[in-house]
Amino acid sequence: MPPSYPSDAPASEALFARAKTVVPGGVNSPVRAFRSVGGTPRFITSARGAYLIDADGREYVDLIGSWGPMILGHTHPEVLAAVTDAASRGFSYGTPSENEVALAEEIVARVEPVEHVRLVSSGTEATMSALRLARGLTGRSRVVKFAGCYHGHVDALLAAAGSGVATFGLPDSAGVPSSAAAETIVLPYNDIAALEAVFAADGEHIAAVITEAAPGNMGVVPPAPGFTEALRRVTRDHGALLISDEVMTGFRCSRSGWYGLEGPYAAGAPDLFTFGKVMGGGFPAAAFGGPAALMAALAPDGPVYQAGTLSGNPVATAAGLATLQRCTPEVYAHIDAAAHTIADAAAAALSAAGVPHTVQWAGSMFSIFFCEGLVRDYDDAKRTSAPAYAAFFHAMLAQGVHLPPSAYEVWFVSAAHDAAAVDRILAALPAAASAASDA
Ligand code: PMP
Repeated sequence: MPPSYPSDAPASEALFARAKTVVPGGVNSPVRAFRSVGGTPRFITSARGAYLIDADGREYVDLIGSWGPMILGHTHPEVLAAVTDAASRGFSYGTPSENEVALAEEIVARVEPVEHVRLVSSGTEATMSALRLARGLTGRSRVVKFAGCYHGHVDALLAAAGSGVATFGLPDSAGVPSSAAAETIVLPYNDIAALEAVFAADGEHIAAVITEAAPGNMGVVPPAPGFTEALRRVTRDHGALLISDEVMTGFRCSRSGWYGLEGPYAAGAPDLFTFGKVMGGGFPAAAFGGPAALMAALAPDGPVYQAGTLSGNPVATAAGLATLQRCTPEVYAHIDAAAHTIADAAAAALSAAGVPHTVQWAGSMFSIFFCEGLVRDYDDAKRTSAPAYAAFFHAMLAQGVHLPPSAYEVWFVSAAHDAAAVDRILAALPAAASAASDA
């Protein structure tokens, strides 16, 4: 049986009040603040396997997974050993080290079109740098992105972004100069005609199209058959680059990310890829990569500058390497099966309670929209009922299951979600579905 927790959480409430006196909104990343679901974010004191423990000593089955990285579960013993060993030999050198090479080799071995990778510290840095490289290579300035896709908080890529920007219903962000926004063309996702029209009108000025390989930041909205192929064909025909953002999908949807499921495309592979989350194993590590001939434009060999004090950090690379090495076929099969069990049970509970819903998939990544019908783009995604999700979320939380505090996010399952953890989620679903039906 799931536990039954009171809706107040005194220790987290006290910490949140204290946080608000020194941290904007009390959090260091906006979606953590529970604004769209209401209530107090749980302050976590420890995490192990599939579970989080909060400051009130309550245990939750975790379906946030740190928003993607924790594919093996929390504090995996062998990853912990690798991290402890690395940390015991120094925290940061500012000079090259072997694990950086090993992590790059691991990525190159998995994603066939990627020959060279540069390590950075966040997904935002990866997409920002890939975009700069694309502009440097083409000598063009415009970039096409898709509404509802989130690529980090890069000025040029915040327009109509998903994730927190979607959660808070922001059109885009204040503080982005109109000159930066003017170079960004936002198109509806899965709309080939819109893409072709923009390239017909403006193709010679477009440096790149950037897309989430399979979007997960407006909820999961997989590319319709032929869409990514069309992106590849149109960009190639107009001399623009295609950047596939695999920060979320990379090494999660398959050992080679979304590319491993869908690529290679008849019209060729994407030019540049970005990675993050899983490849850092919960530490700040991310990367961008592509063919050696393109990556050679980066400093020190080429004219496109990019750098980082902590890039390739020895502790982060040890965590990422140990994590990727343990992402075996069995791990992917387990996550796939657990995700299907959870999603099927959630759909059954919502159906039984008469709550409109749609489950969408990208590999083993799934999310549930609280609305009916196929979701193909951001406008469709916005039909999801935020109040129904908020009620569902809090009923799950009260029964010891921590979902992402936003209706637009993936439910991240890990290899540590064993039968006991999955059973606890299943047992909590009927009451949560009935709370959603009353919302
Ligand atoms: N791209 C995608 C597809 C993402 O999901 C995210 C983060 N959710 C980012 C980029 C940005 O990564 P980070 O938060 O590490 O900067």
